[in-house]
Amino acid sequence: MFFSSGGSIKSGRKVVDSLYYFAEQQMLDCNQYMIKDEESEELVLFDAGNGKSMNGLFEGMEKLGLDPEHITKLYLTHEHVDHVLGVYTFLDKFGKDAPEIFAYGRTAEILQQGKETEIFPGNLGISPRMFGVEIRPIEVHKITEDEPVHVGPDYNFTIYHTPGHSQGSIVYYEPDKKILIPGDLVFTQGSFGRYDFPGGSLSQLQDSIKFVNELDVTYLLPGHMGISDNGNAQIATSNRMVHTIGPY
Ligand SMILES: [Zn+2]
Repeated sequence: MFFSSGGSIKSGRKVVDSLYYFAEQQMLDCNQYMIKDEESEELVLFDAGNGKSMNGLFEGMEKLGLDPEHITKLYLTHEHVDHVLGVYTFLDKFGKDAPEIFAYGRTAEILQQGKETEIFPGNLGISPRMFGVEIRPIEVHKITEDEPVHVGPDYNFTIYHTPGHSQGSIVYYEPDKKILIPGDLVFTQGSFGRYDFPGGSLSQLQDSIKFVNELDVTYLLPGHMGISDNGNAQIATSNRMVHTIGPY
């Protein structure tokens, strides 16, 4: 099946075995990551994008021989518009065949309750209507730090709650493969997440980055900008930079 985006393709590439990176599109979108279970052919997606980019994602997937209809699970990093709006687009498009949604703590609650004001941080000057979706209460499976997220036979992610950018922010960490999916906590080039949205906190952001700086990370796969296969060095730079901002 071919999905026409009417926009630009969200191009992807393989990062490591069975794991793919789809780079964010321009307008308030996010990077997405996908892991293929080579046995069952099921696809697991990390973050939903802004919905408008979904057809572009599907086109990018097809170029890599990945079938969008095989996406069975969708894991979220945090509650912000550019990461979660695509959830509603999936539900609208696929109905009961839409992927199951998984989220942590506050992120799960916000989606279960349909709290539009927390998905759209104030004064961004945008609304769900501009993205053609309606925020409403939806079914979300809560994930916790106690249970690893198993993806296919090869990937077992540990979840850590890492607030600072938002209250619901988590990272997914694969210790054997040394992969970190940090959402908007840290980026490459010494960048890190904003802490000026509602629920943001500089001191929590500093603590959370300090925490992930202790993890052994090769592949850093953030929510925006590029990715890196030199994760520890990248995170160390972000850790240095974020601690240059003010005292606690
Ligand atoms: Zn965010």
